[in-house]
Amino acid sequence: MSRFWSSVVHNLSPYVPGEQPKIDGLIKLNTNENPYPPSPRALAAIAATADRLRLYPDPRATALREAIATRYGVTSDEVFVGNGSDEVLAHSFPALLKHDAPLLFPDITYSFYPVYCRLYGARYELVPLDAAMRIDLADYRRPGSAILLCNPNAPTGVALPRAAIEALVVEHPDRLVVVDEAYVDFGAESAVPLVARHDNLLVIQTLSKSRALAGLRVGFAIGQRPLIEALERVKDSFNSYPLDCFAIAGAVAAIEDDGWFDETRQRIVSSREALVRGLSALGFEVLPSLANFVFARHGGHRGADLAAKLRERGVLVRHFQKPRIEDFLRITVGTDDECGRLIELLRDMV
Ligand code: PMP
Repeated sequence: MSRFWSSVVHNLSPYVPGEQPKIDGLIKLNTNENPYPPSPRALAAIAATADRLRLYPDPRATALREAIATRYGVTSDEVFVGNGSDEVLAHSFPALLKHDAPLLFPDITYSFYPVYCRLYGARYELVPLDAAMRIDLADYRRPGSAILLCNPNAPTGVALPRAAIEALVVEHPDRLVVVDEAYVDFGAESAVPLVARHDNLLVIQTLSKSRALAGLRVGFAIGQRPLIEALERVKDSFNSYPLDCFAIAGAVAAIEDDGWFDETRQRIVSSREALVRGLSALGFEVLPSLANFVFARHGGHRGADLAAKLRERGVLVRHFQKPRIEDFLRITVGTDDECGRLIELLRDMV
């Protein structure tokens, strides 16, 4: 690179998302998408929105914030929405998580967190998971400004109960605790009911997983008003229209369709249980998951080899080249047929 380019181009190491294959016919168990189509009510609402394309969308996405507020028992000024929870998280860094003392988060968690820290110049310190790959909240009794947890954690799937989150928030009244609940709807306990009594808690969720709308890009945060206002100030300095009119309309309808939501997540939970039984029967160690994915390793086989062999046979799973977890596969819970095919292939490999 010439001296000119190296002086103007940032030397960032960005997050690398899981593979989105360009060919059809692969079984995609690598990026924790929902294997079922979204609520038909969401699809109808999106289609009915086409005649609004000429106009700017509502910059505050009021209808969506009100739908979320009603669904989660808060007020609409306690809700912030963004273009996927990635964007909501991104805004949290300059708005709330950049301080002199380090932000604390687990060493094994969503790998976007350190990327945001570097992008926004936020100091951070990694707190190791315990020997059982769990988050031990006693380890967060160290100097720090704020705590960021993913619950259930990714890529492990292991969850903390709501009471543990509340104890953490109470123990550290002068620290903001941000809980990324991207995977909370598959059996874990949400911290949203705690927001009313704790001003130092922000909970972030997404419609990408349990509502099957990853392509629509909608995420939200719930917290007390000063936190939401801080996020709004960053958003308004960045892009005043983060959600387009399709996203707003589709997300409102999806949030209101409790029937579809409950049925779909129940299906995924029962498929997860069958997948865990299948993997365990093949000799895999499977961490206890309350997410729509499982994290599993097989003593006799390297994770990278298994992932590569599965790929050759048309099944994508996620493998991380990272110390401590390099022997694990992160496997998204697909339909029963998809999971059955995975088990069938693994049976010939292990
Ligand atoms: N948090 C976690 C832990 C995730 O795994 C993901 C998905 N990669 C996200 C947040 C972001 O999801 P989205 O931007 O689709 O809402």
